[in-house]
Amino acid sequence: MSLRFFNTLSRQLDEFRPLDPAGKQVKLYTCGPTVYDFAHIGNFRAFTFEDLARRYLVYRGYDVVHVMNITDIEDKIIRTVRQTGEPLKQLTGRFSTAFLDDCRALNLLPPHHVPRATDHIPEMLALIGTLMKKGVAYQAPDKSVYFSIAKFARYGQLKKIDADQMRPGERVKLDEYEKESLGDFALWKAWDEADGDIGWDSPWGRGRPGWHIECSAMSMKYLGESLDLHCGGEDLVFPHHEDEIAQSEAATGKPFVRYWLHCAYLLVNGQKMAKRSGNFFTLHDLFAKGYTGRELRYTLIAEHYRRQLNFTFEGIDAARTSLARVDEFLVKLRDVAGGTPVPSPLPSNVATLQTDFEAALDDDLNISAALGVLFNFIRDINKRLAENVVAPAEATAILDTWQRFDTVLGFGMPQAQEAPANIVALANQRLAARKAKDFKRADQIRDELKAKGWIIEDTPKGPKLKRL
Ligand SMILES: [Zn+2]
Repeated sequence: MSLRFFNTLSRQLDEFRPLDPAGKQVKLYTCGPTVYDFAHIGNFRAFTFEDLARRYLVYRGYDVVHVMNITDIEDKIIRTVRQTGEPLKQLTGRFSTAFLDDCRALNLLPPHHVPRATDHIPEMLALIGTLMKKGVAYQAPDKSVYFSIAKFARYGQLKKIDADQMRPGERVKLDEYEKESLGDFALWKAWDEADGDIGWDSPWGRGRPGWHIECSAMSMKYLGESLDLHCGGEDLVFPHHEDEIAQSEAATGKPFVRYWLHCAYLLVNGQKMAKRSGNFFTLHDLFAKGYTGRELRYTLIAEHYRRQLNFTFEGIDAARTSLARVDEFLVKLRDVAGGTPVPSPLPSNVATLQTDFEAALDDDLNISAALGVLFNFIRDINKRLAENVVAPAEATAILDTWQRFDTVLGFGMPQAQEAPANIVALANQRLAARKAKDFKRADQIRDELKAKGWIIEDTPKGPKLKRL
């Protein structure tokens, strides 16, 4: 079976073949956050799905180059600066840092490049200049520069917009707009009073870039004119990604992106998340309730990315239980495995596990199916662990395979619980007391250990320390 993705461009499952003739390098661009506020868990659903896509490509042996921009100039940012009076650089710096901290908490692999829009104004001006030279962009009486959708025959290919819905010549200056106001969109927005002291000089006068041109300029700077994968939330299909295609392809004459992947919305308690509905959560809100990044990662990842995910507290509690089950399973296996080397070939049940896990993820990153495979396997092995019939070599093979799965899942392996030296010393004193038949002293030490959070289990191989 080969790796397939549901491509928004073709509206079908397409086999994944990288542009690289050697079939090795994969160029991945993901639209980053607009940094005017804390990102919410809905935003992070998209970032977590993109992380899964990247991790699985790496697991599959590809060299992925991942670029994620930070949008630090955009309509909502300008509005926030105007409302709060906080200087632009300070506002965007503060929320960029918070965003990257949240990414670490969710164990998202850091992109290889994280370009900021305000550091790439010259690249955007060059791209707009090319579009002007080619006659697909024009400066309007309001001094802003617009892309003429009538001049780009393939406009609407991503959103599947019919020509009769288009209103070329009508202009929309906003970064975000609905299909109803579809028209020529802004590449360069002429300065107006609302912009205050924010603006850059350009051949078309003082102003600032449109949101869409930012991503075209930055993706092509770091990845070249054609990319393999471009991902985002489904809310980015139109106008953002449609406009990115138009600008990039009109400028280069080359296909911009081979595979477009979009993830579905996240609902909270069955409803669209909104601050006024009281169902709006940032990572910080969840941490304050005692949840961890790991539990949220599991929750966000566990549903297939093209299905709507309904976030509930029962759901994240279930994620906690699932992770505890995985941890307990791996710890038990570690006990059985001892230091046994990984057998080759793998035992047949472990080889099958690997095939099934990969088959699920090859099918458009069907993680829910992959997790189903893993939990069925855990149930079977747990039964055999209870009967003491799992051989050390089999346990090692499972652990080794799981470690490789975890490069995709990103849940992390449970830490080995090594007892500290003072605890080991106490355990040895207890053993000595028992040998001297001083059972009263031995029991005292057992209680002392318990108070320190450790219990002793007497096994046929001798006493074993375990965390309470
Ligand atoms: Zn973008």
